[in-house]
Amino acid sequence: MLIRVLLFVFLAYIFYVALKAYWLSRKSRNSRFVDPRKVDDMVLDPQCQTYVPKNEAIPQEGNYFCSRECARLFLLR
Ligand SMILES: [Zn+2]
Repeated sequence: MLIRVLLFVFLAYIFYVALKAYWLSRKSRNSRFVDPRKVDDMVLDPQCQTYVPKNEAIPQEGNYFCSRECARLFLLR
């Protein structure tokens, strides 16, 4: 009987973790958090050497930047 209780607790925990992960992935859809599904659309910021999602990057002179500040600094060089 105790085994069943432990199994139930374990399954409830798995369900809770899965639900939490699902909720976090939904919540981060519009944030700057990197979505693994968009990993092919990552571009390198040549100024700070950071990969940013292409749809959030700032195209400037053939390069992509994480911010206008990086684009400005890079073009000043
Ligand atoms: Zn940058």
